[in-house]
Amino acid sequence: MNQAELETHLISIRRHLHQYPELSNQEFKTSKSIEKWLRELDIPIRKTDLKTGVFADIKGGKPGPIVAVRADIDALPIEEKSGLPYSSKINGVMHACGHDFHTAALIGAASLLQKKQSELNGTVRLLFQPAEESGGGAEK
Ligand SMILES: [Zn+2]
Repeated sequence: MNQAELETHLISIRRHLHQYPELSNQEFKTSKSIEKWLRELDIPIRKTDLKTGVFADIKGGKPGPIVAVRADIDALPIEEKSGLPYSSKINGVMHACGHDFHTAALIGAASLLQKKQSELNGTVRLLFQPAEESGGGAEK
């Protein structure tokens, strides 16, 4: 994927997430979508016992520390009135805090880091954190 293709891909990811927002601890479809996008990049998903949220590692080709990069993935109980063509399709739920962008940005970072995987010293742990808005998601 070249720079222009990545940009187009990330815009479509962000708009998809914006149209299908999910509240804290209900990010089931969001988590499935994130897993799909990571699998497309050949990034292995870490198993967890959480209901929602996704964790994945980009293991570098050289030894080194684990560095985490985090994005929150949940939306807010707000009715969208933006009139945008990719407005929320879910009544009373909206990505009004930018977590759709955060999630797309982390997929973008993952895509770029995965390309440099063999050169990385250590591991980059991707944390797609559930339930930031309601609290408690980071602790889980
Ligand atoms: Zn937020």
